[in-house]
Amino acid sequence: MRIAFLGLGNMGGPMTRNLVAAGHEVVGYDPVEAARRTAEAAGVSISGSGEEAVRGAEVVFTMFPSGAHVLAAYRGEGGAEGLLAAAAPGTLFIDSSTISVDEAREAAGLARDAGHRALDTPVSGGVAGAAAGTLTFMVGGPAEEYEAALPLLEVMGRKIVHCGESGAGQATKACNNMLLAVTMIGASEAFVLGEKLGLSDEVLYEVMSSSAAQCWAVTTNCPVPGPVGTSPANHDYAPGFATALMAKDLGLALAALEATGTRAEFGRAAQRLYEEFKESGHGGLDFSAIIQRIREENA
Ligand code: NAD
Repeated sequence: MRIAFLGLGNMGGPMTRNLVAAGHEVVGYDPVEAARRTAEAAGVSISGSGEEAVRGAEVVFTMFPSGAHVLAAYRGEGGAEGLLAAAAPGTLFIDSSTISVDEAREAAGLARDAGHRALDTPVSGGVAGAAAGTLTFMVGGPAEEYEAALPLLEVMGRKIVHCGESGAGQATKACNNMLLAVTMIGASEAFVLGEKLGLSDEVLYEVMSSSAAQCWAVTTNCPVPGPVGTSPANHDYAPGFATALMAKDLGLALAALEATGTRAEFGRAAQRLYEEFKESGHGGLDFSAIIQRIREENA
C-alpha cells in the first residue's frame, strides 16, 4: 500500500520504520531536516512537501505536536494548498497526534467535507512502543474506516481499540491519562506519608503492590527507587513518560472537562500540579518525579 506519513519526529520516525519493514511504500515529509534524514535511512521516500507526499497515497498518517498543526496542514496555510485539497478523493486520513477532542472532530469534519475518510488514532506506549511496534491505538471514527485502517495499525501496535465515533480516540486518551496522573500523585503521597510515619518504601510497596491499592503507578512505574527495577526512579527519573507530555495531555483533559462541564476535583488538581512542575523546569523528567515536589512541600 502507498502510505503518506507526515511528522517524522520521535514517534513518527520509528512508526514509519515498522511500516516499511512490513513491505509498505512509505512517502514521508517533515520540515526538520534531521527527521527527514533519519526516516530516509529507514527506507522512507522523502517528498518536498506534505502535499507532494499525499498525492497518489491511499492512506495519510499525521503525527504532529498539536491540533493546531493538524488543522493547519489539513487546510493549508501560508499559501500552501493543504493536504485535503491535494489528496485524491476518498483518501483515508489517520491522525495519530494527541490533540483535543474538539480539534479531532473538526479535523475529521474537514476531511469528510473534502470527500475523504478520517480517523483519530492517538497512541500510548511512547517512543519505545513506537520502535517495538507495541503501541496502543485508541481509534475514533466510523466502523468501516476502522476496519480499513486495522491492518496498518496492527503493524505499529499491539492493542487497537475502536472507541466510538470521531473524537472518541482522543476522548479515551484524555480519560486514561487523567486517571494515570491522579494515581501517580496518589501513589507518591502514600509513599511520602509512609516515609513520614517511619515505614520503609519496600514494606509499603510489598503491601500496596498486592493489595487493593495496586495500580500501574505503583507496580510498573513506582515513584520511589528500589522496589521496581525498571522504574525511571532508579535512573534519576529519566523518562519514561516525560512530565512535559503529561502536562500537555492534562491540558487536553482540562479542555474536555471544561467543554463538558464535568466536575473532577482530582483531575483538575493533577493538571495544576503537573503544569507547575513542568513550569518549574522539570518537564524533561519522568512524570513519576512529581514525588520530589510532594516531598519538598512536606520537608
Ligand atoms: P516530535 O516533536 O518529536 O515530532 C513531531 C514532528 O512533526 C516534528 O518533527 C515536526 O517537525 C513535524 N511536523 C510539524 N508540522 C508538520 C507538517 N505540517 N508536516 C510535516 N511534519 C510536521 O513529537 P513526538 O514526540 O513524535 O509526538 C508526536 C505526537 O505524539 C504528539 O502529539 C505527542 O503528544 C504524541 N505522543 C508522544 C509520545 C512520546 O512519548 N513522545 C507518546 C504518546 C503520544
